[in-house]
Amino acid sequence: MAVRDILKLGNPILFEKCEEVEDFNSTKTSETIQDLKDTLLDFKKRSGFGRGIAAPQIGILKRIIYVDYQAEKLSGPLINPMIVRHSREKVQLWDDCFSFPDLLVKVERFKEIGVEFFNSSGEKTSINAMGDLSELLQHEIDHLDGILSVQRAIGPKAFALRQEWVKYGCRSKVM
Ligand SMILES: [Zn+2]
Repeated sequence: MAVRDILKLGNPILFEKCEEVEDFNSTKTSETIQDLKDTLLDFKKRSGFGRGIAAPQIGILKRIIYVDYQAEKLSGPLINPMIVRHSREKVQLWDDCFSFPDLLVKVERFKEIGVEFFNSSGEKTSINAMGDLSELLQHEIDHLDGILSVQRAIGPKAFALRQEWVKYGCRSKVM
């Protein structure tokens, strides 16, 4: 069990593009997956929110995300995930991120996406994601390309501190 520090906005590593995983069975890959899981569950326990984390957030520049999304029974790593199709329709939402947990950013995401990835056994898998899961996966996959939600803000007023966001009733969903 290793709960890692989460890199915060301002750390240049968060803007770097991650490399594909080539060796699914390496110790390094399984350690990364375990650390992502432990860090995500620890964050969730402490903050009450959080359903996904990406490897660069713990300083590892590999294309691995870890999702714990019980509503869709999706829990585990997604290795080398790729968006292979998306709906034309988009939705706007207030997005949050472990790397700047007090800041909400209004972004636009595809309503529905298809994602291909490898599971921890190295088997190729694909899923269709809608709603919250679609938004979550787009957020996490962006991390692997060094893109943070602040870069996807829909305008200069698309930012809110969490306590103000609660106070002024920006009622859109949040991840
Ligand atoms: Zn994030």
